[in-house]
Amino acid sequence: MAIALGHYDQVAAGAISPLKLLPQVTCPHCWERFAPEQVLWISEHLDLLGDPFLGAESQQRFLPSRYTLEGDAVDPKGMTCRTMACPRCHLPIPRAMMEMEPLFVSILGAPASGKSYFLTAMTWQLRRTLPIRFKVGFTDADPASNRVLNDCEESLFLNPDQAEVIPLGGGLSHSASSGVDSCCVNRAGSVWSNSQKS
Ligand SMILES: [Zn+2]
Repeated sequence: MAIALGHYDQVAAGAISPLKLLPQVTCPHCWERFAPEQVLWISEHLDLLGDPFLGAESQQRFLPSRYTLEGDAVDPKGMTCRTMACPRCHLPIPRAMMEMEPLFVSILGAPASGKSYFLTAMTWQLRRTLPIRFKVGFTDADPASNRVLNDCEESLFLNPDQAEVIPLGGGLSHSASSGVDSCCVNRAGSVWSNSQKS
């Protein structure tokens, strides 16, 4: 007879290691530092639409009191949640930031000075070079948040028509108004960018 073990059963049985959470987590959006147990979760049930900080179109953020055996939060309507959010600004943050101290890289420059091109080229080179020369994998910590950066890499380096000029990321200007692009990298080789569409 097969018995399915939950996350905490497997930890107790020594099958997997317990999570090692950081004592303090830094939000990559607002720089708030908070304890891991203060992190909010993003609800999944469609009835829980509407967040006081982010507006009627965003799912509610909540501090959970129920979890699945795998350690995921359960929202008030019973749906399993996968995404966490900052307790101050309510924006999504990658789960990996709970466990590993990131290295923040901020790129400053005048509007249209090439910050997004530089970040795109740097990320592309790290993706290619780290596995080959240093045996380190380099992956997206949060593919959804990195979609803008992925689009930029695709338009810059995977353009099938080399003779045609294609705007970066399909014509999106990521930082023309803010003058700042940034990303964070952790020791596990995960990258997360908070370049936003302007
Ligand atoms: Zn924040």
